[in-house]
Amino acid sequence: MRAVIDKLYFQNNLTNEELLALLNSINEDTKKYLIEKAHETRMRTYGDMVFMRGLIEFTNYCKRNCRYCGIRAGNKLADRYRLTDEEIMQVCCEGYELGYRTFVLQGGEDDYFNDDKIIAIVKAIKEKYPEVAITLSIGERSYESYRRFYEAGADRYLLRHETASKELYEKLHPGMSFESRKKCLHDLKKIGFQVGAGFMIGLPGQTNEDYVMDLLFLKGLGPHMVGIGPFIPHKDTPLAGDIGGTVETTEIMLAITRMLLPNVLLPATTALGSIDHFGREKGIKAGANVVMPNLSPTIVRKKYALYDGKICTGDEAAECRKCIEARINKAGFNVDMSRGDNLVWRRI
Ligand code: SAH
Repeated sequence: MRAVIDKLYFQNNLTNEELLALLNSINEDTKKYLIEKAHETRMRTYGDMVFMRGLIEFTNYCKRNCRYCGIRAGNKLADRYRLTDEEIMQVCCEGYELGYRTFVLQGGEDDYFNDDKIIAIVKAIKEKYPEVAITLSIGERSYESYRRFYEAGADRYLLRHETASKELYEKLHPGMSFESRKKCLHDLKKIGFQVGAGFMIGLPGQTNEDYVMDLLFLKGLGPHMVGIGPFIPHKDTPLAGDIGGTVETTEIMLAITRMLLPNVLLPATTALGSIDHFGREKGIKAGANVVMPNLSPTIVRKKYALYDGKICTGDEAAECRKCIEARINKAGFNVDMSRGDNLVWRRI
């Protein structure tokens, strides 16, 4: 399998069969080699820098019913909240003072925040802080809505494809279609956003064949960012009794993704940090180069519960900032507080 990993390293591509063979036969030894090569790749592209993004979870209302997610509409036990425009600005202000130059506005699919409201928020942040990058992560909207967000000044958009297996996708997302998800991602790219796709690890019934589809889907799409994290069951969802994903499989997928898309911005996710005390460090060592510390007000953090056992729900933004920097340094990497755009992206 070393020859296959070398091919991935040098050519940034593998066939369906090669990827499947790699995943089916991976052992401690080859995993170590894979991670080494992914690390070399990131050192060539972004060096030892890890970009910081300030995450603002501004609403946990959601009209969707994703079976894995704790804030799904059907979870009547979720304690719902929305931040006001003033609260969002306050959080940005605090984040800016702490040095953040990217704000990620994430939420459930909440119709209260219609296009005009989102546009007003984006414009207000850009007016006060013209040099920051704004990332939106608010689910599926029309081409026209996305275009207006971009025109208002939004720079990036995160919309994980969740799984590239159409069958599994549609089982997990009642009333949604994989075709619409793909269309949104293509629309976002066409408009000019830096686009983030990505998938979960350890979904019920997910196989190595499914992971191969995820990896090749990413290679075909060519996103600027890729979010990969373990699925973690939430107690008040239909998947409460499931096992969820492992650190090992997540590391493997991060490493392969780093080599398939050498210039990609790849976060070591909060979910990965939540299943292992050193999860984020392990992700960074496997090729990840972004972390997204939480900036949300402490009082709402527990309420943005996509899964059980989420870390940092009790910490102030300033503590998170210090803690993650110390961890990154200890792991042998350096924090980069700049906007951290994708190497090959220019605003059009
Ligand atoms: N509504 C937005 C943002 C979703 S939350 C959207 O549709 O894009 C961000 C990500 O959290 C999701 O894309 C999903 O991959 C992840 N997520 C949701 N529930 C999860 C769970 N139980 N375990 C791990 N990750 C989860």
